[in-house]
Amino acid sequence: MSQPAGEIAVRAEGVRKEYPTRDGALVVLEGVDLAVRRGESLAVMGPSGSGKSTLLHILGTLDRPTAGEVRIAGQNPFSLSESEIAEFRGRELGFVFQDHHLLPQCSAVENALVPTLARRCDRGAAAGRAPALLERVGLGARMDYPPADLSGGERQRVAIARAMINAPRILLCDEPTGNLDKATAESIGDCFLDLQKNDGMALVVVTHDERFARRFDRVARLEGGILIFDL
Ligand code: ADP
Ligand code: MG
Repeated sequence: MSQPAGEIAVRAEGVRKEYPTRDGALVVLEGVDLAVRRGESLAVMGPSGSGKSTLLHILGTLDRPTAGEVRIAGQNPFSLSESEIAEFRGRELGFVFQDHHLLPQCSAVENALVPTLARRCDRGAAAGRAPALLERVGLGARMDYPPADLSGGERQRVAIARAMINAPRILLCDEPTGNLDKATAESIGDCFLDLQKNDGMALVVVTHDERFARRFDRVARLEGGILIFDL
């Protein structure tokens, strides 16, 4: 580990998730336990359909567990009202998905600012942070470019800047390099780990890429609904 471990940013205890189907309940997560501290990075691997996205959505308050508990910054987010959860999510969590979901009509810097629109925060300060963040992800010279004029790797860098704009405590990423070639994936890995080391958030990344995963502090594998940590 690169720095002293901080407080626990996100904890899951006995998290179970079932989806109702016509043939009865489909149990995707049997009882997942994890704790990730500030300044710590975790890669989650596992076969397709093993529940990686389901787990990430639950950790990100986007979906509720059927049973078990999630605590983020010491709080159970699912005890909040829907509007409070949304506010909590905007404040504490950043997301990067496989597909960047950038707004095509907006520039890189405008896209990075999107998560500040829904928040009651200081827009002026956020507007100042966006160019600095784009600089940090290596897009200083391309801030005014729309997504169509950026490469796949550059678009994902904009998505990373967008996820960081509210200085989240936890960054959650679902196959962020899934659509990128090897060299670009590597540079995106550098980008994530540099930001994480400097800003000290907890980083949880779902990936299929063993090489990418090995760069994280810890690696865990989801199989049979259980999360098993590599030794
Ligand atoms: P992974 O990200 O590891 O590929 P997912 O978490 O997306 O896996 O899905 C795990 C399992 O849960 C799959 O069998 C998938 O079909 C099922 N699943 C995911 N979301 C739903 C849903 N909303 N309703 C029913 N089944 C779902
Ligand atoms: Mg998935």
